[in-house]
Amino acid sequence: MTNKILFLIILVASAIYANSQERCGTAAINQQRMEKSSEYKKARDKVNNQTAKWIKEHPNYTPETTITIPVVVHVVWNTNDQNISDTQIQSQIDVLNADFNRTNIDAINTPNIWQNIAADCEIEFCLANIDPNGNPTTGITRTQTNTSQFQISGPSVEDASTGGKEPWNINQYLNIWVCNLGGGVLGYASQPSEFLSSNDGVVINYTNFGNSGNSNAPYHKGRTATHEVGHWLNLDHIWGNNNCGNDYITDTPKQEKDNNGCPGFPHNINSCNTPNINGDMFMNYMDYTNDQCMNLFTKGQKTRMLAAINEYRPNILTHSLCSGTANILETNTNKKEILKIVDVLGRVTNKQSRGMPLFYIYNDGSVEKKLIP
Ligand code: ZN
Ligand code: CA
Repeated sequence: MTNKILFLIILVASAIYANSQERCGTAAINQQRMEKSSEYKKARDKVNNQTAKWIKEHPNYTPETTITIPVVVHVVWNTNDQNISDTQIQSQIDVLNADFNRTNIDAINTPNIWQNIAADCEIEFCLANIDPNGNPTTGITRTQTNTSQFQISGPSVEDASTGGKEPWNINQYLNIWVCNLGGGVLGYASQPSEFLSSNDGVVINYTNFGNSGNSNAPYHKGRTATHEVGHWLNLDHIWGNNNCGNDYITDTPKQEKDNNGCPGFPHNINSCNTPNINGDMFMNYMDYTNDQCMNLFTKGQKTRMLAAINEYRPNILTHSLCSGTANILETNTNKKEILKIVDVLGRVTNKQSRGMPLFYIYNDGSVEKKLIP
């Protein structure tokens, strides 16, 4: 065999490898958690059942006020170029806001046939300006690390013991870690379940975050975070992580597998043994196509994300983590505190038994009688 032929074989093999490489690690994270605990699979099945039920019970749901997700971006850096700029971070927040409100300028590229199911998801994002202690913040943390590269299998960027950064309260903030992520993975997210843990959130490779600065083509338009936040709000890949699998969304067509690059429309007509003249919805954010070829979430996906917020991330619905310092600090200082709890004989107690009245004495002089039912 000549060197030339050998070189060609290697070239073809590496091209195939590059194509089949998973750019999103969410399925791998799920797999890892299932292997660690049989309860995780049950918890995710439960989420899928509860979500279907919630959607059925709320057919005309619209949020009472604008949903704004408070975001904290944790930059965990080893080299200077990993310490991305505030501008690059803000560009990502802007992309999320455009994509989730269908104000993305490439919305016109959605094929006509799907324009009417493309959704304004009515979900907004802000960098938090109040931290978990009630102090003002930029919504950005910066941590220098000795870990040169993080991996799904570890070292884990969500874990301080492996050189990462611990999250802010996962029930209140969307934690987004930006770091040097290895293994060819551009990002990953944790989907909602009772298994929410200290690594709940979204992780994005620093060269695929935002649409400026260090962001690299063809994943340089901030769509990795759009995709991963979709997972964080309970969306699955459009092909259902299986050959013609189920993504639990009715208005996305069945799809055989992931698409890469930038296909022309229509693509893969009549795949999955079903008549489908429009083919794959490869420009959906939950596919694997290039950033500049993605441009929509569907109404079905919007409904599933709103269900996820209501059921699993309800603190997002009401908070003031993006609207200045006043609210939280005021309530903290004005909040009355319990001085002591006494029983009917005036004895200080911390025992609560049924039918026994207790008196709560507060620092503002008020007393409340409470009866344990
Ligand atoms: Zn994904
Ligand atoms: Ca579908």
